[in-house]
Amino acid sequence: MQLSAETEALVQQANKIYLKNFPATTCFERAIFFSWWCGINDCGFCYMSALPKDKVSKEESIRHESSILAETWLCKKLGWEFGFFSGGINAFNVDKVTDMLKKINIVYGDKVWINIGAVPKPVLQKYLPYIKGVVGSVETVNDEVHKKACPSKPSAPYYRMFENAHAIGLQNAMTFIVGLGETRADFPKLVETIRKYHISKLHFYGLVPHEGTLYAEAQAPSVDEQAWWIAQTRIAFPKLDIQCGIWSDRTKRISSLLHAGANSISKFQAIKLFATKPAKDIEAQAVLGGRKFLGTLTSLPNVDVSEIDAFGFDTELTNHIKKKTQQYLKLMKRNIDRPLSEEEIISIRTE
Ligand code: SF4
Repeated sequence: MQLSAETEALVQQANKIYLKNFPATTCFERAIFFSWWCGINDCGFCYMSALPKDKVSKEESIRHESSILAETWLCKKLGWEFGFFSGGINAFNVDKVTDMLKKINIVYGDKVWINIGAVPKPVLQKYLPYIKGVVGSVETVNDEVHKKACPSKPSAPYYRMFENAHAIGLQNAMTFIVGLGETRADFPKLVETIRKYHISKLHFYGLVPHEGTLYAEAQAPSVDEQAWWIAQTRIAFPKLDIQCGIWSDRTKRISSLLHAGANSISKFQAIKLFATKPAKDIEAQAVLGGRKFLGTLTSLPNVDVSEIDAFGFDTELTNHIKKKTQQYLKLMKRNIDRPLSEEEIISIRTE
């Protein structure tokens, strides 16, 4: 995709830095959500802020644990990284999160990142055996933009969480949504924030103007803009783990974002859109970006659900996970047997 001369020069520099510090690979990272309900519910860019408040029931918006664990297991089988465990703020209490983290560790075979709001220190201690780090959804480092975008989600508690997490040996990651209203003059503040709060991973998303939200009429950021931020960050932080969030209608920008120095790709409906044209585009774009794509978004490996018995959960939960896994596999296989039309892909993207 066409980049400006300034961004192109930065991207070329960033790509050299990336290749000096990382292997020429990339992968898909899956964020696994436990709810579609949030106790804050008014971030201006978030689709949850557009849901009718009186009609969204917390109970109905929470996922069954078997569905979360089935998706976690498929993540492992398909070679996707577990991006983070997330959900609306206060949708799960501390005991429920702890219980789910224990189970996710068993199924995924590793500790995971969490992105569940600004977690206080005593609670972090509780999650410590099961997590590798915390993701703070700071979204922007521009204070004025932050007030508009996240009126009820101040940054200060996230920065406190970063300090507490670092003190107990956890890693810190931060989200940044390009397109909320920041300007390039905010870049030094981002550099300062990464240094000050020991950020080892940055999730660089691009605004998706969801209908009914404050940003519904806003422009989605161009590939040039997203690549500029990623390249500048790669140049300033050669070893930072940078993830680029895309969307199924933005797959064509992936090679540019990888050249700009992103490590991995996220924000794609990988199960529902498995083996579809956008999924194939992602793998092809990885190659165009000079990377080998690890894992798969297009071909189903042999999956034997009887392996789920080995996790040692009770019979009821084990059977539920198997059933849910089979449902997901059926959905993915359907896309292979009968390629989805453009209209079907659009309707999945916007549902
Ligand atoms: S806190 Fe997170 S889930 Fe809740 S409205 Fe804001 S962005 Fe959406």
